[in-house]
Amino acid sequence: MQPKPNIIHLPVYQPGKPVEDVKRELGLTEVLKLASNENPFGSSPKVKEAIARELENISIYPDGAAVDLTNAVAGHYGVNADQVIFGAGSDEIILMIARAFLVPGDETIMADQTFPQYKHNCQIENATIVEVPLRDGTHDLNAMLERVTDKTKVIWVCNPNNPTGTINTAEEVEQFLSKVPGRVLVVLDEAYCEYIDDPSFPDGVKLLKRYPNVVTLRTFSKIYGLASLRIGFGIGRPDVIRSINQVREPFNTSRIAQAAALAALQDDDFVTKCRVANKEGLAYYNRSFAELGLEAFPAHGNFIMVDVKRPAQEVFDALLRKGIIVRPGHRHYPTHIRITVGSGEQNEKVIAALTAVLQEIAIKV
Ligand SMILES: *Cc1c(COP(=O)(O)O)cnc(C)c1O
Repeated sequence: MQPKPNIIHLPVYQPGKPVEDVKRELGLTEVLKLASNENPFGSSPKVKEAIARELENISIYPDGAAVDLTNAVAGHYGVNADQVIFGAGSDEIILMIARAFLVPGDETIMADQTFPQYKHNCQIENATIVEVPLRDGTHDLNAMLERVTDKTKVIWVCNPNNPTGTINTAEEVEQFLSKVPGRVLVVLDEAYCEYIDDPSFPDGVKLLKRYPNVVTLRTFSKIYGLASLRIGFGIGRPDVIRSINQVREPFNTSRIAQAAALAALQDDDFVTKCRVANKEGLAYYNRSFAELGLEAFPAHGNFIMVDVKRPAQEVFDALLRKGIIVRPGHRHYPTHIRITVGSGEQNEKVIAALTAVLQEIAIKV
């Protein structure tokens, strides 16, 4: 049996080490995982009530079109119901966009250090990947524009960018969109937008009115704290959403996830509390890194990427021995680690551990 030639070299996704394994292997009683940008405050209590109510229906297939949730999201963002599509996480929307729009030989443009699912899914479709270097950790939209050809079909812009946490401003994104040919689909992945109160940050959903070739991705996994339930959505022009819907599996989001997302969307207090705590956490990290003589990229999501000036893997291993899991392994940033913003107490533990670790490992220039 021969799989598709273009998938033979694809890696199988390696999830972060489970907390239980780390505890057992290192003999630790407490392990703090700040490697996957999960919400340290869990999710809204209203979500748990909604899930409890939905439990009696688990033997029944979900509403494949997620009508109630679609209407709620459409109302929340001021768009029509035919402009919204749900996926098993926004990961699945990325997959469906690649599946719906790319044939072998099509070109697709993305940053060279960004969310890995764009490249992964485009490789599965055998599209030609055009990777454009980040500039100061930020999408270089002008350079991306220069790479547009007649064969370009999809451009991926992760804003804020994962893993660097940097943003492109509304002005930059608008300039870019005004020059991208209308036949090219521009995916604006705004998985962390609810954390941002910087007025220069663009809102992809609003941009859609002027630039109908935009599709904006959002998720319930981050500020809403529903990562395990796998639910995210895309907002775009009706015909774009229809194309994505044509490749969607009939029951791709579960009843529990739909009910939870509906409740999550209605709890503004929880979202505000998370946004405020995250902002305090980022300020604390920025102060602490400055005191440690370290530089971080300007962070806008619920994570921060810092140059520890030592091999990231060594710092990762040393932090792991102290019971803290962060994210190393970013190909163009061998001395950077990405840390998810935790609760105030968790952030203090990270800085205490990092302070000790930096003394153990010599600076490598
Ligand atoms: C976390 C994340 C997502 C989506 O996660 P899902 O859990 O699949 O919704 C999408 N894009 C970026 C940049 C992310 O960091």
